[in-house]
Amino acid sequence: RQDQRNDDLKALIRTIPDFPKPGIQFRDITTLLLDAKGFAEAIARMAAATVGPVDLVAGIEARGFIFAAAMAAPLGAGVLLIRKDGKLPGVTIAEDYALEYGTDRIAMHEDALVPGQRVLLVDDLIATGGTARAAVRLLRKAGAVVEQAQFLLDLPDLGGADALRADGLAVDSLIA
Ligand code: AMP
Repeated sequence: RQDQRNDDLKALIRTIPDFPKPGIQFRDITTLLLDAKGFAEAIARMAAATVGPVDLVAGIEARGFIFAAAMAAPLGAGVLLIRKDGKLPGVTIAEDYALEYGTDRIAMHEDALVPGQRVLLVDDLIATGGTARAAVRLLRKAGAVVEQAQFLLDLPDLGGADALRADGLAVDSLIA
């Protein structure tokens, strides 16, 4: 699906050079969110690419929440929040992942899912895959069946989607 069929959506994403630091081409999706038809189309296409029933859509803080929440209703699923460590009020489980310098930690409520529930992982963008792979480890630690992930955008040169596939997931994105 990463072909001209989604060029209408690609045109709604803007690139901001050197944010948040020199050398990074930041793909800014706020312009797509502002476009009523574009945002609705993005959600419809991501939901249509989802295979089989899912119980929960897991969104990664913060932009992943927007896409996960909007996809949940058409998929008939609930929304599971994966947040930066320290933000969730209940008892949490956490997972660390490597950054360019140092590590970061994401968390979810330990009782957010019943073991065996089918979870679709959603974020706005996959780059190196470090964040998404940590989310998959976290969800699987909680007993989730995680077999697919959906992203609006993939930066394929960074290899994240392929790494996620090596972890056993089907990975879809509308735009590369
Ligand atoms: P990664 O863990 O390297 O796959 O990075 C994915 C996370 O960082 C996602 O939550 C993205 O929102 C954000 N991100 C990474 N690279 C970019 C980029 N070039 N433009 C916009 N967001 C990015």
